[in-house]
Amino acid sequence: MARLSIRASKAWFGPGRVVEDAQVVTEDGAITYAGVATPIEAADREIAVDGFLMPAAADRHVHIELSDPSAVLAGGVTAVRDLAWPPDRIFPLADLSELPTFEGPLIRAAGPMLTGRDGYPTRASWAPPGTGREVDGSEDAGAIVAGLAAAGATAIKVSLNAEAGPTPSDGELAALCESAHDASLPVTVHAQGEGQVERALGAGVDELAHTPWTHRLSEDVIAMLAARMRIVSTLDILSFGRDTPAIRTALDNLRRFHDAGGTVIYGTDLGNGAVPAGIDTRELLLLREAGLSNEDVLAALIRAPLEVDAPADLIALRGDPVRDLRAFDDVRLVVRAGRVVRG
Ligand SMILES: [Zn+2]
Repeated sequence: MARLSIRASKAWFGPGRVVEDAQVVTEDGAITYAGVATPIEAADREIAVDGFLMPAAADRHVHIELSDPSAVLAGGVTAVRDLAWPPDRIFPLADLSELPTFEGPLIRAAGPMLTGRDGYPTRASWAPPGTGREVDGSEDAGAIVAGLAAAGATAIKVSLNAEAGPTPSDGELAALCESAHDASLPVTVHAQGEGQVERALGAGVDELAHTPWTHRLSEDVIAMLAARMRIVSTLDILSFGRDTPAIRTALDNLRRFHDAGGTVIYGTDLGNGAVPAGIDTRELLLLREAGLSNEDVLAALIRAPLEVDAPADLIALRGDPVRDLRAFDDVRLVVRAGRVVRG
Protein backbone atom coordinates (compact mmCIF):
# COMPACT_ATOMS: atom_id res chain seq x y z
CA MET A 1 0.00 0.00 0.00
CA ALA A 2 1.04 3.55 -0.58
CA ARG A 3 3.26 5.44 1.79
CA LEU A 4 1.65 8.66 3.00
CA SER A 5 3.46 11.55 4.65
CA ILE A 6 1.61 14.29 6.53
CA ARG A 7 3.25 17.40 7.96
CA ALA A 8 1.64 19.97 10.21
CA SER A 9 2.78 23.06 12.06
CA LYS A 10 1.44 21.62 15.29
CA ALA A 11 0.21 18.24 16.53
CA TRP A 12 -1.05 16.40 19.59
CA PHE A 13 0.08 12.78 19.35
CA GLY A 14 -1.42 11.68 22.66
CA PRO A 15 -1.51 12.71 26.35
CA GLY A 16 1.36 15.05 27.13
CA ARG A 17 2.76 14.96 23.60
CA VAL A 18 2.36 18.26 21.79
CA VAL A 19 4.75 18.49 18.83
CA GLU A 20 5.65 21.56 16.77
CA ASP A 21 6.56 21.05 13.09
CA ALA A 22 5.25 17.51 13.22
CA GLN A 23 5.30 14.70 10.71
CA VAL A 24 3.47 11.38 10.54
CA VAL A 25 4.25 8.69 7.97
CA THR A 26 1.92 5.78 7.31
CA GLU A 27 2.27 2.55 5.35
CA ASP A 28 -0.01 -0.49 5.03
CA GLY A 29 -2.59 1.12 7.27
CA ALA A 30 -0.23 1.65 10.20
CA ILE A 31 2.01 4.47 11.40
CA THR A 32 5.70 4.01 10.65
CA TYR A 33 6.89 7.39 11.95
CA ALA A 34 5.46 10.03 14.28
CA GLY A 35 7.69 12.85 15.46
CA VAL A 36 9.24 16.11 14.45
CA ALA A 37 9.55 16.65 10.71
CA THR A 38 12.46 14.72 9.26
CA PRO A 39 13.74 13.79 5.79
CA ILE A 40 12.24 10.44 4.83
CA GLU A 41 12.32 8.12 1.87
CA ALA A 42 10.09 9.33 -0.94
CA ALA A 43 6.42 9.07 -0.07
CA ASP A 44 3.74 8.30 -2.65
CA ARG A 45 1.74 11.19 -1.34
CA GLU A 46 2.72 14.16 0.78
CA ILE A 47 0.24 16.40 2.54
CA ALA A 48 1.06 19.66 4.28
CA VAL A 49 -1.64 20.57 6.79
CA ASP A 50 -2.35 24.17 7.63
CA GLY A 51 -3.60 23.41 11.12
CA PHE A 52 -3.50 20.91 13.93
CA LEU A 53 -2.87 17.17 13.52
CA MET A 54 -4.11 14.55 16.02
CA PRO A 55 -5.44 10.99 16.26
CA ALA A 56 -8.89 10.31 14.84
CA ALA A 57 -11.87 9.75 17.15
CA ALA A 58 -13.59 6.57 18.32
CA ASP A 59 -17.25 6.62 19.39
CA ARG A 60 -17.80 3.80 21.88
CA HIS A 61 -21.60 3.92 21.85
CA VAL A 62 -23.43 4.05 18.52
CA HIS A 63 -26.28 2.44 16.64
CA ILE A 64 -24.61 2.84 13.28
CA GLU A 65 -27.53 1.81 11.07
CA LEU A 66 -29.55 4.68 12.50
CA SER A 67 -26.93 7.07 11.13
CA ASP A 68 -24.90 7.56 7.94
CA PRO A 69 -21.55 5.71 8.13
CA SER A 70 -19.89 7.83 5.43
CA ALA A 71 -20.84 11.05 7.25
CA VAL A 72 -19.57 9.60 10.52
CA LEU A 73 -16.20 8.91 8.90
CA ALA A 74 -16.02 12.27 7.12
CA GLY A 75 -16.69 13.89 10.51
CA GLY A 76 -13.49 12.47 11.97
CA VAL A 77 -14.72 9.26 13.64
CA THR A 78 -12.76 6.31 12.19
CA ALA A 79 -13.91 3.63 14.64
CA VAL A 80 -17.21 2.96 16.40
CA ARG A 81 -18.65 0.37 18.75
CA ASP A 82 -22.26 -0.54 18.09
CA LEU A 83 -24.12 -1.27 21.35
CA ALA A 84 -27.36 -2.92 20.22
CA TRP A 85 -28.56 -4.02 16.81
CA PRO A 86 -29.85 -7.30 15.32
CA PRO A 87 -26.88 -9.68 15.05
CA ASP A 88 -27.76 -10.88 11.54
CA ARG A 89 -27.33 -7.28 10.36
CA ILE A 90 -24.58 -5.79 12.50
CA PHE A 91 -21.97 -8.57 12.44
CA PRO A 92 -21.86 -8.79 8.59
CA LEU A 93 -21.62 -4.99 8.48
CA ALA A 94 -18.78 -5.08 11.01
CA ASP A 95 -16.95 -7.60 8.79
CA LEU A 96 -17.50 -5.39 5.76
CA SER A 97 -16.16 -2.35 7.63
CA GLU A 98 -12.72 -3.95 7.81
CA LEU A 99 -12.26 -3.54 4.04
CA PRO A 100 -10.12 -0.51 3.21
CA THR A 101 -12.72 0.56 0.65
CA PHE A 102 -15.60 0.65 3.17
CA GLU A 103 -17.23 4.10 3.19
CA GLY A 104 -17.49 4.41 6.93
CA PRO A 105 -15.67 3.83 10.21
CA LEU A 106 -14.31 0.52 11.43
CA ILE A 107 -17.26 -1.09 13.25
CA ARG A 108 -17.04 -3.25 16.35
CA ALA A 109 -20.30 -4.59 17.73
CA ALA A 110 -22.01 -6.13 20.74
CA GLY A 111 -24.91 -7.54 18.75
CA PRO A 112 -28.24 -7.52 20.64
CA MET A 113 -28.95 -5.99 24.03
CA LEU A 114 -29.59 -8.82 26.51
CA THR A 115 -32.67 -8.26 28.61
CA GLY A 116 -35.53 -9.79 30.63
CA ARG A 117 -38.73 -11.19 29.12
CA ASP A 118 -40.49 -8.33 27.26
CA GLY A 119 -37.77 -6.04 28.65
CA TYR A 120 -36.17 -3.00 27.06
CA PRO A 121 -35.58 -2.63 24.11
CA THR A 122 -37.84 -5.42 22.78
CA ARG A 123 -40.73 -2.96 22.45
CA ALA A 124 -38.73 0.23 21.81
CA SER A 125 -39.78 2.10 18.67
CA TRP A 126 -36.17 2.66 17.53
CA ALA A 127 -35.22 -0.99 17.74
CA PRO A 128 -35.86 -3.43 14.86
CA PRO A 129 -36.79 -7.02 15.82
CA GLY A 130 -33.72 -8.78 17.20
CA THR A 131 -32.20 -5.65 18.80
CA GLY A 132 -33.19 -7.03 22.21
CA ARG A 133 -32.67 -10.66 23.20
CA GLU A 134 -34.48 -12.11 26.19
CA VAL A 135 -32.43 -14.17 28.64
CA ASP A 136 -34.18 -17.24 30.04
CA GLY A 137 -32.20 -18.49 33.02
CA SER A 138 -28.52 -18.69 33.92
CA GLU A 139 -27.73 -21.56 31.55
CA ASP A 140 -29.29 -19.66 28.67
CA ALA A 141 -27.18 -16.63 29.62
CA GLY A 142 -24.00 -18.65 29.19
CA ALA A 143 -25.13 -20.07 25.85
CA ILE A 144 -26.08 -16.65 24.50
CA VAL A 145 -22.72 -15.14 25.43
CA ALA A 146 -20.83 -18.08 23.89
CA GLY A 147 -22.81 -17.65 20.67
CA LEU A 148 -22.13 -13.93 20.52
CA ALA A 149 -18.43 -14.43 21.19
CA ALA A 150 -18.30 -16.92 18.30
CA ALA A 151 -20.12 -14.44 16.06
CA GLY A 152 -17.47 -11.79 16.69
CA ALA A 153 -18.93 -9.64 19.48
CA THR A 154 -16.37 -7.37 21.13
CA ALA A 155 -18.56 -6.57 24.16
CA ILE A 156 -21.71 -7.89 25.83
CA LYS A 157 -24.48 -5.32 26.27
CA VAL A 158 -27.07 -5.83 29.00
CA SER A 159 -30.22 -3.85 29.69
CA LEU A 160 -30.82 -2.94 33.32
CA ASN A 161 -33.54 -0.52 32.30
CA ALA A 162 -36.01 -1.09 35.12
CA GLU A 163 -38.12 1.87 34.00
CA ALA A 164 -39.15 0.16 30.75
CA GLY A 165 -39.81 -3.45 31.68
CA PRO A 166 -38.25 -6.54 33.29
CA THR A 167 -34.48 -6.87 33.49
CA PRO A 168 -32.32 -10.01 33.80
CA SER A 169 -32.37 -11.44 37.34
CA ASP A 170 -29.32 -11.11 39.59
CA GLY A 171 -28.50 -14.74 38.84
CA GLU A 172 -28.75 -14.20 35.09
CA LEU A 173 -26.70 -11.03 35.33
CA ALA A 174 -23.96 -12.82 37.27
CA ALA A 175 -23.97 -15.64 34.70
CA LEU A 176 -23.74 -13.15 31.81
CA CYS A 177 -20.74 -11.48 33.45
CA GLU A 178 -19.02 -14.76 34.22
CA SER A 179 -19.48 -16.12 30.69
CA ALA A 180 -18.39 -12.84 29.13
CA HIS A 181 -15.26 -12.71 31.24
CA ASP A 182 -14.50 -16.35 30.38
CA ALA A 183 -14.58 -15.22 26.73
CA SER A 184 -12.45 -12.12 27.57
CA LEU A 185 -15.33 -9.80 26.68
CA PRO A 186 -16.28 -6.73 28.72
CA VAL A 187 -19.86 -6.29 29.92
CA THR A 188 -21.45 -2.90 29.38
CA VAL A 189 -24.88 -2.05 30.81
CA HIS A 190 -27.66 0.39 30.21
CA ALA A 191 -28.54 1.20 33.86
CA GLN A 192 -31.77 3.14 34.30
CA GLY A 193 -33.82 3.39 37.47
CA GLU A 194 -33.09 3.33 41.18
CA GLY A 195 -30.63 0.67 42.31
CA GLN A 196 -29.57 -0.49 38.83
CA VAL A 197 -26.03 0.91 38.97
CA GLU A 198 -25.64 -0.81 42.34
CA ARG A 199 -26.78 -4.12 40.78
CA ALA A 200 -24.22 -3.72 38.00
CA LEU A 201 -21.48 -3.10 40.56
CA GLY A 202 -22.46 -6.18 42.56
CA ALA A 203 -22.41 -8.42 39.49
CA GLY A 204 -18.96 -7.40 38.25
CA VAL A 205 -20.03 -5.38 35.23
CA ASP A 206 -17.12 -3.57 33.52
CA GLU A 207 -18.71 -0.47 32.07
CA LEU A 208 -21.76 1.78 32.10
CA ALA A 209 -22.93 2.51 28.55
CA HIS A 210 -24.32 5.87 29.72
CA THR A 211 -23.47 8.32 32.47
CA PRO A 212 -26.15 7.58 35.11
CA TRP A 213 -28.79 10.29 34.81
CA THR A 214 -31.87 9.06 36.67
CA HIS A 215 -30.54 9.30 40.26
CA ARG A 216 -27.77 10.98 42.19
CA LEU A 217 -25.32 8.22 43.16
CA SER A 218 -24.02 8.04 46.74
CA GLU A 219 -20.38 8.83 47.49
CA ASP A 220 -19.77 5.17 48.32
CA VAL A 221 -21.16 4.02 44.98
CA ILE A 222 -19.14 6.66 43.14
CA ALA A 223 -15.95 5.47 44.84
CA MET A 224 -16.63 1.82 43.94
CA LEU A 225 -17.57 2.77 40.38
CA ALA A 226 -14.36 4.74 39.91
CA ALA A 227 -12.31 1.78 41.10
CA ARG A 228 -14.05 -0.92 39.09
CA MET A 229 -15.84 0.44 36.02
CA ARG A 230 -15.49 2.92 33.24
CA ILE A 231 -18.25 5.17 31.95
CA VAL A 232 -19.20 5.92 28.34
CA SER A 233 -20.23 9.57 28.43
CA THR A 234 -23.40 9.98 26.22
CA LEU A 235 -24.16 13.38 27.80
CA ASP A 236 -25.43 15.27 24.76
CA ILE A 237 -28.54 13.04 24.41
CA LEU A 238 -29.66 14.24 27.83
CA SER A 239 -29.81 17.86 26.81
CA PHE A 240 -29.10 18.58 23.11
CA GLY A 241 -27.92 22.01 24.16
CA ARG A 242 -30.69 22.66 26.70
CA ASP A 243 -30.63 22.73 30.49
CA THR A 244 -32.51 19.65 31.76
CA PRO A 245 -32.79 17.82 35.12
CA ALA A 246 -31.23 14.75 33.46
CA ILE A 247 -28.08 16.57 32.33
CA ARG A 248 -27.67 18.20 35.74
CA THR A 249 -27.86 14.83 37.51
CA ALA A 250 -25.52 13.20 35.00
CA LEU A 251 -22.94 16.00 35.19
CA ASP A 252 -23.00 15.82 39.00
CA ASN A 253 -22.43 12.04 38.90
CA LEU A 254 -19.72 12.24 36.24
CA ARG A 255 -17.90 15.12 37.94
CA ARG A 256 -17.60 13.12 41.18
CA PHE A 257 -16.66 9.95 39.26
CA HIS A 258 -13.87 11.81 37.44
CA ASP A 259 -12.69 13.45 40.69
CA ALA A 260 -12.50 9.97 42.25
CA GLY A 261 -10.15 8.86 39.46
CA GLY A 262 -12.69 7.07 37.28
CA THR A 263 -12.10 6.52 33.56
CA VAL A 264 -14.46 8.30 31.17
CA ILE A 265 -14.57 7.46 27.46
CA TYR A 266 -16.29 9.31 24.66
CA GLY A 267 -19.54 7.89 23.33
CA THR A 268 -22.62 9.60 21.96
CA ASP A 269 -25.37 6.97 21.52
CA LEU A 270 -25.36 8.03 17.85
CA GLY A 271 -28.71 7.25 16.28
CA ASN A 272 -30.58 8.42 19.37
CA GLY A 273 -32.07 11.83 18.53
CA ALA A 274 -30.15 14.76 17.13
CA VAL A 275 -26.59 13.52 17.64
CA PRO A 276 -24.55 14.76 14.66
CA ALA A 277 -22.67 12.25 12.50
CA GLY A 278 -18.96 12.74 13.21
CA ILE A 279 -17.36 14.26 16.29
CA ASP A 280 -20.04 15.83 18.53
CA THR A 281 -18.55 19.05 19.88
CA ARG A 282 -21.43 19.46 22.34
CA GLU A 283 -20.50 16.10 23.92
CA LEU A 284 -16.91 17.32 24.32
CA LEU A 285 -17.97 20.62 25.90
CA LEU A 286 -20.18 18.72 28.37
CA LEU A 287 -17.21 16.51 29.32
CA ARG A 288 -15.34 19.68 30.07
CA GLU A 289 -18.25 20.87 32.18
CA ALA A 290 -17.94 17.59 34.11
CA GLY A 291 -14.44 18.65 35.11
CA LEU A 292 -12.22 17.01 32.49
CA SER A 293 -9.41 19.20 31.18
CA ASN A 294 -9.22 19.72 27.42
CA GLU A 295 -6.40 17.20 27.29
CA ASP A 296 -8.48 14.68 29.33
CA VAL A 297 -11.27 15.18 26.78
CA LEU A 298 -8.90 14.49 23.87
CA ALA A 299 -7.63 11.35 25.61
CA ALA A 300 -11.23 10.15 26.08
CA LEU A 301 -12.02 10.84 22.42
CA ILE A 302 -9.21 9.26 20.42
CA ARG A 303 -8.97 5.78 19.00
CA ALA A 304 -5.25 5.45 19.81
CA PRO A 305 -2.25 7.79 20.25
CA LEU A 306 -0.17 8.50 17.15
CA GLU A 307 2.88 6.27 17.51
CA VAL A 308 4.70 3.61 15.51
CA ASP A 309 2.51 0.56 14.74
CA ALA A 310 -0.71 2.34 15.79
CA PRO A 311 -3.56 2.41 13.25
CA ALA A 312 -3.03 5.14 10.62
CA ASP A 313 -6.18 6.96 11.72
CA LEU A 314 -5.78 10.69 12.09
CA ILE A 315 -7.48 14.01 11.59
CA ALA A 316 -6.49 17.62 11.13
CA LEU A 317 -8.37 20.61 12.50
CA ARG A 318 -8.13 24.26 11.57
CA GLY A 319 -7.63 25.32 15.21
CA ASP A 320 -5.91 23.96 18.32
CA PRO A 321 -8.30 21.77 20.38
CA VAL A 322 -6.00 21.76 23.41
CA ARG A 323 -6.83 25.47 23.67
CA ASP A 324 -10.44 25.38 22.51
CA LEU A 325 -12.59 22.28 21.99
CA ARG A 326 -14.70 24.18 19.47
CA ALA A 327 -11.86 23.43 17.03
CA PHE A 328 -13.68 20.14 16.39
CA ASP A 329 -16.34 22.09 14.50
CA ASP A 330 -13.79 22.50 11.68
CA VAL A 331 -12.34 19.12 10.64
CA ARG A 332 -10.10 19.56 7.58
CA LEU A 333 -8.56 16.15 6.98
CA VAL A 334 -9.57 12.58 7.83
CA VAL A 335 -7.34 9.56 7.25
CA ARG A 336 -8.54 6.03 8.01
CA ALA A 337 -6.11 3.10 7.74
CA GLY A 338 -3.71 5.26 5.73
CA ARG A 339 -6.37 6.30 3.21
CA VAL A 340 -7.34 9.96 2.86
CA VAL A 341 -11.13 10.04 3.08
CA ARG A 342 -11.50 13.79 3.47
CA GLY A 343 -9.26 16.71 2.62
ZN1 LIG B 1 -27.59 3.16 22.76
